[in-house]
Amino acid sequence: MPTQRKYQPTEKAQAFLAKVENAKYDRGIITGLKKYIDKKVSEDMQDFYSEEELQVLIDMKNTDRDVEARMPVKITNHYYQIAKNSKAVQTLVKASPKETFDLEGAPDPGNQMSYSPIEGLIHKYELGLIYVINTCSAHCRFCYREELIAKKEILREDGTVASKGLAKIPELVNYIQEHNKLVEENGGKHPETNREKLREILMSGGDAMVLGNKNLAEWFSALADAGIESIRLGTKELAFYPDRFDRTFFNMVDDFHAAYPEVQLRVMVHFNHPDEFLQKDDNGNYIENPEGGLLWIENTKHAVKELADRKFIIIENQAPFIKGINEDPNDIRIMQRELKRNRINNHYFFCGRDIIGHKAFNLTIEDAWKLLNDSQKGLSGVEASARLSITHYLGKTEVVAVTNEPIPGIPGTENGVVIFKLLRGTADAKNKGQVAIVGRNPEAIWFSGYEDRVIIDEAGLFTESMKETSSVS
Ligand code: SF4
Repeated sequence: MPTQRKYQPTEKAQAFLAKVENAKYDRGIITGLKKYIDKKVSEDMQDFYSEEELQVLIDMKNTDRDVEARMPVKITNHYYQIAKNSKAVQTLVKASPKETFDLEGAPDPGNQMSYSPIEGLIHKYELGLIYVINTCSAHCRFCYREELIAKKEILREDGTVASKGLAKIPELVNYIQEHNKLVEENGGKHPETNREKLREILMSGGDAMVLGNKNLAEWFSALADAGIESIRLGTKELAFYPDRFDRTFFNMVDDFHAAYPEVQLRVMVHFNHPDEFLQKDDNGNYIENPEGGLLWIENTKHAVKELADRKFIIIENQAPFIKGINEDPNDIRIMQRELKRNRINNHYFFCGRDIIGHKAFNLTIEDAWKLLNDSQKGLSGVEASARLSITHYLGKTEVVAVTNEPIPGIPGTENGVVIFKLLRGTADAKNKGQVAIVGRNPEAIWFSGYEDRVIIDEAGLFTESMKETSSVS
């Protein structure tokens, strides 16, 4: 275990932090169903849930089907205004009884606690993911961090049970420095885990942009001083509350860049559907922008432009495909085209994770693959850069291909095959590029749906240990 010591900002960090200004935000957040039940929401919002919808959810309260116990309900006013005219956005944010019909799933998706050497850090690859907060401005019903946001108790490696905690600057800085020192002394690999230098930290949760500027700035300078080369900021705030990207935020990042010019900021945004950022006319159609492309919601467009104008910031979109939200290839095509046009890269689309209640949300793996490929028809190569990923506990895995034709002479391939490729292992990259080929199962929503039809498994995605660690059938 790394030794503990108090974190002291360096002189450079102190000079940067002294300039940072916090601002007040009026997100108009409504939390919990009770406000709708008690009619304590604005008149405008009172029919967001019908009486019948509320009654079903009330009847489930305090039972094991309680939707709010699975995932707290939360929405901003900005997102509500979009949801009024968008079925997809409503589905994303409105609680539904379907969510708890089947509660199968992993209490700790991706076995994250197995990769958590200190509280609030998930250390995989050369990347560390840190939980800096356990909420967002609004909550997606399909959230793949529902266990963190709903503060569920999780079984730890040491056998204890506790809810997931947040990362703290002193412990994290110590951990990074100790890890990187050992890596350097050992010729580039950690002597026990074989991991490389910790170069990149993803500030996540929850949504890092819910933190104030001063808090964000403390994280930025601490990470930079600890030797982190690239800071990722995971956020859906461009969809939930784009006004958070205000002058005070950009002053802070500009000052940070002036103080730490070598550190890159990667803003990992999360748009699921073009309704989250495009304006619509009275008939529900997107509106042509006379200057090219489609007309964006103004404050979202402004925030994206400000981000993209800064050369030290890279913006990447990644989002899961979810039933009832983003299943139409035309929507996904428009989204990819508009994002790229506005300097947001299309990074990943994800198959839904094996969270508790995932059957209410996940498309089948083969449908997700078809959706991405259909959506990329008619896009240019640079627009169609996103890959379809599914997060195996061994590491990030790509769904590379789904074929229709049998492979002559190979039993099990009569209906075609699915090819998975391990993009990287959680420890190091030695398995990168290894594949698994399985016979098709159009019903499969997780790896376990292919366990009985494995043809080749050089990546080890279907070994005994996978069965032990996945609770999903
Ligand atoms: S923005 Fe991300 S972390 Fe927040 S509720 Fe949605 S999926 Fe969960």
